[in-house]
Amino acid sequence: MTDRKLLMIPGPIEFEPAVLEALARPTLSHVDPAFIASFGNALKMMREVWLCPNGQPFVVAGSGTLAMDMAGANLIEPGDKVLVLVTGYFGHRYAELLKRYGAEVTVLEAPLGDTVPLDEVERELAYGNFKLMTFTHVDTSTGVFVDPRPLAELAQRHGVLSILDGVCSIAGEEMRQEAWGIDVAVTASQKAIGVPPGLALMMVSPKAMDVWKQRKTPVGNYFCDWGLWLQVMQAYEEGRPSYFATPPINLIVGLEVSLKLMLSEGMENRSARHIAMADSFREAMRTLGLSFIPVREEVMAHTLSAPYYPEGVTGAQLLPAVSKNGVVIAGGLLPSIKDTYFRVGHMGMVNVEHIARTTIAITEALKP
Ligand SMILES: *Cc1c(COP(=O)(O)O)cnc(C)c1O
Repeated sequence: MTDRKLLMIPGPIEFEPAVLEALARPTLSHVDPAFIASFGNALKMMREVWLCPNGQPFVVAGSGTLAMDMAGANLIEPGDKVLVLVTGYFGHRYAELLKRYGAEVTVLEAPLGDTVPLDEVERELAYGNFKLMTFTHVDTSTGVFVDPRPLAELAQRHGVLSILDGVCSIAGEEMRQEAWGIDVAVTASQKAIGVPPGLALMMVSPKAMDVWKQRKTPVGNYFCDWGLWLQVMQAYEEGRPSYFATPPINLIVGLEVSLKLMLSEGMENRSARHIAMADSFREAMRTLGLSFIPVREEVMAHTLSAPYYPEGVTGAQLLPAVSKNGVVIAGGLLPSIKDTYFRVGHMGMVNVEHIARTTIAITEALKP
């Protein structure tokens, strides 16, 4: 494995050896007592990671998009009004997804590299008769960070449910779901959660569970129906076997290991480390003369950076050169500006050595 390159994209990321080792263990039955204990532990630890002691966790096989889909499928009934805040590619995805369930979607799109002004959000919430609002904690296409606190507070004040797309933030950026009043916070295993791709994860507030229970129409997506999964999650937490659809056993065993490591680091230490790594990487990029898509320090994510290519350099030149130096980084994602910037993920187990290797690989690649 010595020639393996360092994976510094915004997911999948570098994974802890202990997590990979857990994945390689022989697969247990989904009703094996050892697996039931692992799954139950993972669900309990999720409440500590999401900081949501009264939340209902769900873990199913899938990716972040499925987690977004599951939240939408269960909370939307045809004709429901939704406000979607867009700070990049994944906000547009949420708008499209919710329309499939019959939502009437209003989109508020931020200027490139910035967030939607709070007074605009408040104006919409005051008159729009919305059931739900979604926002992206960190949009992976732009590196823009949104502060969830004032948004969740506005949503609560107007009696609107909030969904946080935390796929590129949860377990990296600080996120206190219950204290901040966020109703659903979704993510995927391969980002800051630190487990290879394949798990859709979410935490649902008691209020959002009540709204789901009061639905007048059945959930329009069979696999995603919380009603079919709730008894499974409850059973595993209580140490009983249960079945709706086969869980991804090995990934869940890996999840238990990753969450344990995370909690032993401590969530505050973990988000502080992400800030330190992001700061030192960006400092290095600024030294190279690079600037970033996010227009201000306060709207810059700590889980990834999105720098513009320097004058006269293209992705077709830079990315393979960085890769030749042993580090894999990502190109642009937002269609309108795709060829003008690149993206570097620094989340999960990221450490000073990763940042140093990445900085050197980019610096060398940019030398004439
Ligand atoms: C990666 C990502 C997604 C999509 O997740 P997949 O696992 O690729 O389906 C959604 N939202 C954000 C913010 C992401 O970073």
